[in-house]
Amino acid sequence: MSASIDAAQVAQAFADTFGTAPDGVWSAPGRVNLIGEHTDYNEGFVLPFAIDRAAAVAIRLREDNTARLHSSYGEQATLTVDLNTLSPDSMEGWTAYPLGVVWVMRQLGVAIGGFDLYLHSTVPSGAGLSSSAAIECAVATAFNELENAGLSLRELVLVGQRAENEVVGAPTGILDQSASLLATDGHAVFLDCRTQESHLVPLDLAAAGLLILVVDTKVSHAHATGGYSARRASCELGAEVLGVVSLRDLTAADLPEAAGLLDEETYRRVRHIVRENQRVLDTVAMLDDGGPGTIGELLTASHASMRDDFEISCAELDLAVDTALANGALGARMTGGGFGGSAIALIPAAALASVRDAVSTAFADAGFSAPDIFAVSPAPGARKVS
Ligand code: ADP
Ligand code: MG
Repeated sequence: MSASIDAAQVAQAFADTFGTAPDGVWSAPGRVNLIGEHTDYNEGFVLPFAIDRAAAVAIRLREDNTARLHSSYGEQATLTVDLNTLSPDSMEGWTAYPLGVVWVMRQLGVAIGGFDLYLHSTVPSGAGLSSSAAIECAVATAFNELENAGLSLRELVLVGQRAENEVVGAPTGILDQSASLLATDGHAVFLDCRTQESHLVPLDLAAAGLLILVVDTKVSHAHATGGYSARRASCELGAEVLGVVSLRDLTAADLPEAAGLLDEETYRRVRHIVRENQRVLDTVAMLDDGGPGTIGELLTASHASMRDDFEISCAELDLAVDTALANGALGARMTGGGFGGSAIALIPAAALASVRDAVSTAFADAGFSAPDIFAVSPAPGARKVS
């Protein structure tokens, strides 16, 4: 499957499925979080960038109150839904993402009636690249335009988040949707999860002769969900004992005192968040000053912190990181929630084949199933493509 979206092909697939041309095609990218892990729910900082893999939706409005939805993914049948009976618990499978957005926008007073929708996504599902937000943001952008709703990008971010929280039932923040909607070509999106303020940070990998390789381990360890809740609980406990609203309120200078007040494990969880927030700020400063060639050590330090202090890595992620570093990567880290999913490596563009081969070989030697390895580059956010 080609990584880039061919709008004409998506429009043609819509026509083949529904018998007419669509009103338009909209696309929204997946994202990689460059640095800042588990900091979002601690009201801290994150630094994602949109990637050159996206979800595209072709849509045509209908005269009635029926929605028909089709995805090119797998052997999906077309699903037909009566919008008069739309409710958060009536949505099946993947359609909860597009219909969740429609439901939220209708709650906000946007008069969305019937429509036909064809989805084609090149963001791998469940790899930690936010295939879900890509769908939400493509659909939200499309209906904002089709219905002249006039919602701002920031409002669309919250539409996607509400769909994910209230309809899909995933307790996620605004990181994914912010990246997918606010990003521009060659930039990352710095996001303050307390104030929800954001700004673009230059991430011109091509000019520096670098690229970012994603290693999708394709594993999801059974304790991923429980582990995520346990880490959130540790962070809440740490904040409570230390008397702050959230761990965002602490700096490195507070750590010695924290060490005396917290149990050993909670202390390590807190230390990860405090240092990770600082690493995000340092990464932004270094990207501004010296460019992407200077941030490698911060990425690798972030991984060590997640492995040792926050304990959310796993053997596959550690192997991907260590092998990339041993083969010329400037820095590497797991990205996303952890316990599986993807790692990223910042590498010289010329090292693409050698790093990819080394990681593949290391996985085979370790008896791990073969990872998916591909380069991503910072891409623009959601937009109409046809
Ligand atoms: P992530 O966002 O990290 O990829 P999620 O679990 O949040 O993982 O979202 C994955 C879900 O998104 C899938 O289970 C599926 O419901 C939906 N999805 C992703 N890609 C597609 C697609 N091409 N077609 C239909 N549904 C998709
Ligand atoms: Mg998701």
